[in-house]
Amino acid sequence: ATKPTILILGGGYGGMVTATKIAKEFGHNDANVTLVSKHNYHYQTTWLHEPAAGTMHADRTRMPIANVINESKINFIQDEVQEIHREDNKVTLKEKGQVDYDYLVTALGSVPETFGVGGVFEHAFSKWTVNGAREIKDHIEYLFAKYNNEPEPRDDYLTFIVAGAGFTGMEFIGELSERIPRLCQEYDVPKNKVKMYVIEAAPTALPGFDPELVEYAMNLLENRGVEFKINQPISEVTAEGVTLKDGEEIKSQTVVWATGVRGNPVIEQSGFENMRGRVKVEKDLRAPGEDNIFIIGDCSLMINEETERPFPPTAQIAMQQAETVATNLKALIKGESLQEFKPDIKGTVASLGGKEAIGIVGNKKLYGTSANFMKKMIDNRYLWILGGAGLVLKRGKNPF
Ligand code: FAD
Repeated sequence: ATKPTILILGGGYGGMVTATKIAKEFGHNDANVTLVSKHNYHYQTTWLHEPAAGTMHADRTRMPIANVINESKINFIQDEVQEIHREDNKVTLKEKGQVDYDYLVTALGSVPETFGVGGVFEHAFSKWTVNGAREIKDHIEYLFAKYNNEPEPRDDYLTFIVAGAGFTGMEFIGELSERIPRLCQEYDVPKNKVKMYVIEAAPTALPGFDPELVEYAMNLLENRGVEFKINQPISEVTAEGVTLKDGEEIKSQTVVWATGVRGNPVIEQSGFENMRGRVKVEKDLRAPGEDNIFIIGDCSLMINEETERPFPPTAQIAMQQAETVATNLKALIKGESLQEFKPDIKGTVASLGGKEAIGIVGNKKLYGTSANFMKKMIDNRYLWILGGAGLVLKRGKNPF
């Protein structure tokens, strides 16, 4: 019998963990396995707020895919996925044309959600990718240099706006507010000239999170000079800054967009039924009505039965789904029954720059250095799953 072909789309958390688990658990004769991703490197999306603010070098968040996957078991194609043709079991790639599959795992991640606010793609930084992070960092440093190098110093050069007080926005402003004093020193800029805003449409920062921890985070950030504008939707981003719904305008040359995500546009392009680019998957993680297509990570949507709301898209869930998908692929190939995916949410920890963080692990609230310790351990645990102790030693974070 010929070996079935498994195609994995996307080399992020979902795709990499699927490939790693298959490489460990499948024999050479079980399947031909190919991973397709846009870049020849894997990057850790959950670390990107650090290089974006300039508190970590961008290269620390990425690693060549060839160094991480077992190349004797997984083929790698660097290309951009354009469309999935479900009827024909084919995928169109930008450069290499069409490739066939028997089984497909879609883990293409997400793109920014603008909620219809105009000017985001033209005037704000919204790409949470390695190059997106580099752009933000370089832009901030450029503005610091420019501030003292023009006849009329402009306040909007030193006004930084973060749209969205969700986890991404809070983690980014945490890093930036930590770095600002050093930037001021380096570029001879008085610290009181710098303005930082976090603007949030919802009635609270970190909606749905423990109110005591939210207060801790906001106090800490306010002490570093951050001003929160909560319950104040942005109506437009322009070349000059932002306009709020109540008419207020804030002039700024740097608007960082972090209001949430939608599933990769390939989902909509390929005609899957979706909500904001995310497919409501079956319990075995297949797309509804599809025998051979699994969808995981930020492209998938699952309802949390306790809250009756969708689980927020996280790396934690993407990685757990990937483990189930690898098991289910093996079962499908052998004609056995598939497992139901059950998320096991271990907790949520958000870093706030320096040695500060907040989080809930199990049912324990963590602040400050103990939360920071947990955050680094979570980051290291992921490296462990991907590449064992070697990768943790090479790439891990010091938790102390
Ligand atoms: P990703 O990990 O984003 O991977 C998608 C991959 O697909 C990428 O490698 C991309 O290059 C590739 N790709 C995209 N389009 C194409 C295409 N057309 N063709 C080929 N390849 C393509 N989650 C947590 O659990 N904890 C956290 O602390 C946390 N912090 C975060 C901090 C920040 C700053 C951000 C932005 C996100 C954070 N998240 C966190 C969310 C988490 O990063 C995502 O939920 C997670 O990355 C989703 O995994 P994924 O596999 O679906 O997609």
